[in-house]
Amino acid sequence: MSDSIFSRIIRREIPADIVYEDERLIAFKDISPQAPVHVLFVPKQHYSTLNDVPASEAELLGRMMLAAADYAKTQGFADRGYRLVMNCNREGGQTVFHIHLHLLAGRTMDGGFG
Ligand code: AMP
Repeated sequence: MSDSIFSRIIRREIPADIVYEDERLIAFKDISPQAPVHVLFVPKQHYSTLNDVPASEAELLGRMMLAAADYAKTQGFADRGYRLVMNCNREGGQTVFHIHLHLLAGRTMDGGFG
């Protein structure tokens, strides 16, 4: 069993503001939001980084993106826009080694990625 902080959220061992859950995914608000909307979409299956996800899990990665888009639609900001980001490893800015997709919205994102 994985001991990532996100696995502990999935097991309800530590609290989180959960906004979506299905059999394969959970989504909760980021504890340190970088935008008015900042939600993390996290697979229940633990993979440390995107590099560790096998091709057989392509559907899982697609589900993460579609769940984020559905959330944007139901929350009413899909047409205004949002940003999806997945960081990979240290130089990619990854700090939690359990893959997750950031959904950022509610402010204008600049054109860069810094
Ligand atoms: P990353 O740097 O891409 O690995 O993103 C990790 C994200 O997880 C950061 O934006 C953190 O603010 C967020 N985070 C860390 N611990 C928690 C937590 N307990 N609940 C919610 N978000 C968290």
